[in-house]
Formats: sequence, C-alpha cells, structure tokens
Amino acid sequence: MRADYHMHTEFSFDSNATLHAQLQAAIERELEEICLTDHYEPAYPGLPLWQVDLGARAEALAAADLAPLREKITVRQGAEVGLLDLPGQRAHIHQLVEDHKLDFVIASCHLCQGEDPYYTDFFRKRTRGEAFSLYISELVDLVKTIDDFSVVGHIDFPTKGCPYEDKMLRYTDAPDAIDDLFRYVIDRGKGIEVNTSIFRALGKDTLDLAWLKRYKELGGEIITIGSDAHKPQDVGYAWDSAISLIREAGFGYIATFRQMQPVFHKIS
Ligand SMILES: [Zn+2]
Ligand SMILES: [Zn+2]
Repeated sequence: MRADYHMHTEFSFDSNATLHAQLQAAIERELEEICLTDHYEPAYPGLPLWQVDLGARAEALAAADLAPLREKITVRQGAEVGLLDLPGQRAHIHQLVEDHKLDFVIASCHLCQGEDPYYTDFFRKRTRGEAFSLYISELVDLVKTIDDFSVVGHIDFPTKGCPYEDKMLRYTDAPDAIDDLFRYVIDRGKGIEVNTSIFRALGKDTLDLAWLKRYKELGGEIITIGSDAHKPQDVGYAWDSAISLIREAGFGYIATFRQMQPVFHKIS
C-alpha cells in the first residue's frame, strides 16, 4: 500500500497547493491512498488563521471537477492538530473529529514552551541533545491533553531549525523522553509517523534507526508515512526510502486509517 499520510493544501494557512494539484501529484507518484492533514492549531499566537475549515475542504473535495481524480486514488480526511496547553482542548478536538467524521488526526507540537523549534533560536544556549529532549518531553505532556489522535507527528521536528552540522535526532539524544513518548502512545493504541520533510531538512533520505527500532522493541505497531508536502513536488517524497527504513527497523506492516481506526498493510 503506497500511502502518504501527511500533506497540506490551500486549506492550510501556509500552503497554496490546490486539492487538484495535490491529488494529481499523488496519482503521478503512483500513490494508492492519501490523507489530507491540513493544519488545525487551536490558538497559535498571532496566527488565528491556522484553523482549517474542514467543512469547506470536504465540500471542495466532493466537487464534480475532482471526480476523475477521485476515481484513481483513495482520499481520506484528516487534520494535523498543533497542540498547546489550552483549557478545553480535549473536548474541542473530540468535537472536531466527530463533527467532520475525520479518518485520521496527527498530534503535533509546533510550539515548545512558547518557542518554535522550526527556527534556530530554539537551539540558542542548548546543545542538540538538550533541544531534542526538551521538544520530546513537551510533546509527551501535550499529547496527554487530547484523546482523539491517531499518530504523533514528526518527533524529530527540531531538525528543521537545527544549526548544528549534525541535525539528525538520535535515540541517544533523548532516550528517556523518547521512551516516555513511545510507552504512552503504545499503551493507548496510537502510533507514530515517519515524516519525510525531515529528510528534506537533513538533505539526506534517512533517520536514526535506533529510535525506530526502540519503538518496535517497546511494542509499537502503528506507523504511518507522511511527506508533510505543502506543495505538489513534495507529495510522496522519499516514500521508498521511508518504507525501506521501516522494514529495516523490523516492522512488517504500515498503517492507514479509516474513521480513526488503523488498517494494517503488509510491507511487501
Ligand atoms: Zn505547515
Ligand atoms: Zn507539523
């Protein structure tokens, strides 16, 4: 099953890619299934527009002009929820999933104690290991504020802002925080993703197999692949590299989702 489970469209504040362009790109890359995961940030400071209008997106997706593309690929409806420690968030996200009958939710952290790890400032006065540890510990705390999610997004997100020569998250950077996160998601029947936008930030299509193997070792079974594409050229990015790494880490299956339930596909 060639599925890209993390992509944005013009329904996200930071993407201009039309639904047509993203579907077309996915079909060209021979993907069989995609999930639209536009940004839903309950309250990113200063950016109130970071809230996807899921109703408008569903309507646009159902429009007649997309019918020829919809016949060629399965399109699931999801969202990438950017978590903050907000009162009422648990109920709010639950309602969002119910109201829009979402298939899939990525729980992400884009703001770590008020700082955005996407920018190099996050690494000021911190070693690479300290920055990754802080980010993942924060992710553990934030992910506990909601119940309705499928996978945790890009645990290696700070790579994007990392000014050091070695930008890759290594298991040894934050073993305790990574173990805490994995134990939490595994206990609740949730999963993680391999996000290939991190490959683009690294300039090489790889990751530290040690953390992926650790997830498996702790009992992790649910894993999705996502390009995090904000433009058509990134749709399906390095999908083959991602599946090879997942196989190498010992996994026999990847997951897609329908109505928030995982569907497992044997890795061939
Ligand atoms: Zn984005
Ligand atoms: Zn994200």
